[in-house]
Amino acid sequence: MLVLVINCGSSSVKYDLIETETEKQFCTGMVERIGAVTAIVKHKPADGKEIKDSKVIHNHTDALKQILEFLLDEENQIVEKKSDIKAVGHRVVHGGEQFKDSVLIDDNVIEAIEQAIDLAPLHNPPNLKGIQAAMEALPNVPHVAVFDTAFHHSLPAHAYLYGIPNRLYRRYKIRRYGFHGTSHYFVSRQYYKRIEKPVSKTKVITCHLGNGASIAAIDGGKSVDTSMGFTPLAGLVMGTRCGDIDPSILFYLVEKEELNLHSLHALVNRHSGLLGLSGFASDMRDLINEADNGDRRCQQAIDVFCYKIKQYIGSYMASLNGCDAIIFTAGIGENSYRIREQAVSNMEGLGIILDKERNKSVKPGQIERISTDDSRTEVLVVPTNEELVIAIDAAKIAQASSQSPWI
Ligand code: ADP
Repeated sequence: MLVLVINCGSSSVKYDLIETETEKQFCTGMVERIGAVTAIVKHKPADGKEIKDSKVIHNHTDALKQILEFLLDEENQIVEKKSDIKAVGHRVVHGGEQFKDSVLIDDNVIEAIEQAIDLAPLHNPPNLKGIQAAMEALPNVPHVAVFDTAFHHSLPAHAYLYGIPNRLYRRYKIRRYGFHGTSHYFVSRQYYKRIEKPVSKTKVITCHLGNGASIAAIDGGKSVDTSMGFTPLAGLVMGTRCGDIDPSILFYLVEKEELNLHSLHALVNRHSGLLGLSGFASDMRDLINEADNGDRRCQQAIDVFCYKIKQYIGSYMASLNGCDAIIFTAGIGENSYRIREQAVSNMEGLGIILDKERNKSVKPGQIERISTDDSRTEVLVVPTNEELVIAIDAAKIAQASSQSPWI
């Protein structure tokens, strides 16, 4: 089934056109800087070169029109007619406590995503804009919401409750939700395909290390803990997000620097993490270059980043009572042998021994084992593919809905 996967940010729309039976990506692209003087539009057909353009794009509806025009353009030969696209899968960041699985979008689902805006004020509004724009552009196909939080619904209460008055959980649903669920799900499934042991007996730790970064502990195929929390700000040090900090720091800063809520929010979300620590960049490639040129703060930022990963791995080995495999994925996890090596160095005592040569020679896009043959815990690099998970879920639900006598 040909599925259009949509991922909307406040000023961007990313898309992928995927054929689910063959898992082939026909085309990918994005519209950035929506609403600015000129927006940037990029398309990359599977067998062609990237096409880049800049034009005025007022809103998400315009962006969707641009994308469909490109896909349907006779010259590009990507999709013959609109009706060839059989479903649309939408990435939705926050499903709150309600959504344990992907769902067919109807008025009730839209209302529930609206209700979760409180929990994800930065993410859910653009996700909703994308849903509305795509439903206008493709009104005759099923639209499916796939939630970043859904995979972590299996967290037990002792992992999702915070040590704050319980009434705040009951009243406001303040709890750990966890994010990057589709990625943790996908890479753990890729690992299960390689082994003979029954999934119910496996213990896996997945490290999604991109601009946003999170780690999950997966027991018998189910997420039992994860480093992001009530919002994607918690856990590891990220590109610009601070990760776990002592909450008292915020009260202290309110007094010392007279920060208001808005500037505190910006400080911990946009000016912290690798960028804040290094004072130079949020991008790991830039940091590694500068550290190699002798910049001490860039090296420190890398050291803090890696130490946090090691701490979470150790902590989740305790939660899981051991671990069969540690999986690295996403931009940094898939591409940086340096970060992988530093993150799991000196862990022989826990049964983790990296093979440095294997680690260095990982080929892009391949699943590779990077631990030694005698390492008790396997360490692997597994490329993620969140869009494929969204496309497959959307196809399944679209198919079921077309066979349902109720719809
Ligand atoms: P997101 O999807 O969260 O925006 P990605 O998964 O694309 O992020 O990861 C982006 C990060 O991956 C950046 O910090 C980038 O520097 C890093 N990255 C990509 N390739 C490499 C590489 N070869 N070495 C080190 N870091 C890399």
